[in-house]
Amino acid sequence: MTRIQTAVKPFLDTIEVLENEPMSLHTTFRIGGPARYFIHLTPDTPLPELLDALHGTGERVTILGRGSNLLVRDEGIPGVVVCILGRSRVRVEGTRVSAQSGAALAQVAAAALANGLAGAEFAAGIPGSVGGAVFMNAGAYDGSMSDIVTESQYALPDGTVGTLRGAEHGFAYRESAYKLAPARVILSAELELRQGDPVEIRAKMDDLAARRRDKQPLEFPSAGSTFKRPTGYFAGKLIEDCGLKGFSVGGAQVSEKHAGFLINRGGATADDMRRLIEEVQARVLSAFGVALECEVQFL
Ligand SMILES: Cc1cc2nc3c(=O)[nH]c(=O)nc-3n(C[C@H](O)[C@H](O)[C@H](O)COP(=O)(O)OP(=O)(O)OC[C@H]3O[C@@H](n4cnc5c(N)ncnc54)[C@H](O)[C@@H]3O)c2cc1C
Repeated sequence: MTRIQTAVKPFLDTIEVLENEPMSLHTTFRIGGPARYFIHLTPDTPLPELLDALHGTGERVTILGRGSNLLVRDEGIPGVVVCILGRSRVRVEGTRVSAQSGAALAQVAAAALANGLAGAEFAAGIPGSVGGAVFMNAGAYDGSMSDIVTESQYALPDGTVGTLRGAEHGFAYRESAYKLAPARVILSAELELRQGDPVEIRAKMDDLAARRRDKQPLEFPSAGSTFKRPTGYFAGKLIEDCGLKGFSVGGAQVSEKHAGFLINRGGATADDMRRLIEEVQARVLSAFGVALECEVQFL
């Protein structure tokens, strides 16, 4: 029995453990080699204790949300991937929404709508989990997680739990204190919304969804915007102005619909995507002197 198999034994009533699980099944790019061990959680998994047990093995532990902002290498991930999604309870009390980190943002937005709460409309179309969204300070149109997160709970690798409040989150554009200290695993978040008119909330969600369908290549696997927005520019416009719309490396392509999205046209490897990213960065730097920084995280 391996060290990981021994460590997870006490938790087998609330987790499922898979071996050599293709990460391409768990990323929106549909790219990524196998995770040596892959753990699915449930709402009742004692995550801090599980993390402590895994930490004790000395093996690498990787935290996965909905895999919607990740490029996972073709060789796969050694050690163990803990997929947070099964911990997905959402509770609404007044204007406060408490969500486990594995809840989908769409689930949070739906709960907000059902309770006549405004402020989470921006999140409805972002295909991430609450944990991944707090980590990335995800945002769209006129809102971001930094506008609504008041508190979050985390666990350290040794199982110690802690809380961040307000400014302790260090939110900035696609940045957070969690991103700077990735050892902390987000367990849950408290969101403060405001009373609103359900008709207006739904209309806003529908409008944002229509704008996404209109502008974004949602019919192809991607990780959303590949690059952060450089100050004073739009990444998609710079890439388009380099004549790179439709440019490909293997199965990876600059979307013809929105040049800010690099897509998997079919059969793309992580290596294809990485080379395409580097080529786009080099061309934009050479043409405009702008260094495009990746929003997508590499694993
Ligand atoms: C079609 C499409 C559209 C998108 N549109 C937007 C958009 O409008 N705005 C936007 O901001 N993003 C957008 N994204 C990107 C993505 O959805 C967000 O970044 C999202 O917040 C990532 O969440 P996730 O659960 O998928 O995280 P993952 O991709 O699984 O992980 C991202 C990072 O967060 C870490 N992480 C995840 N969960 C936890 C946790 N519980 N504790 C600690 N670390 C954790 C991971 O280790 C990893 O480093 C889009 C993606 C796609 C595919």
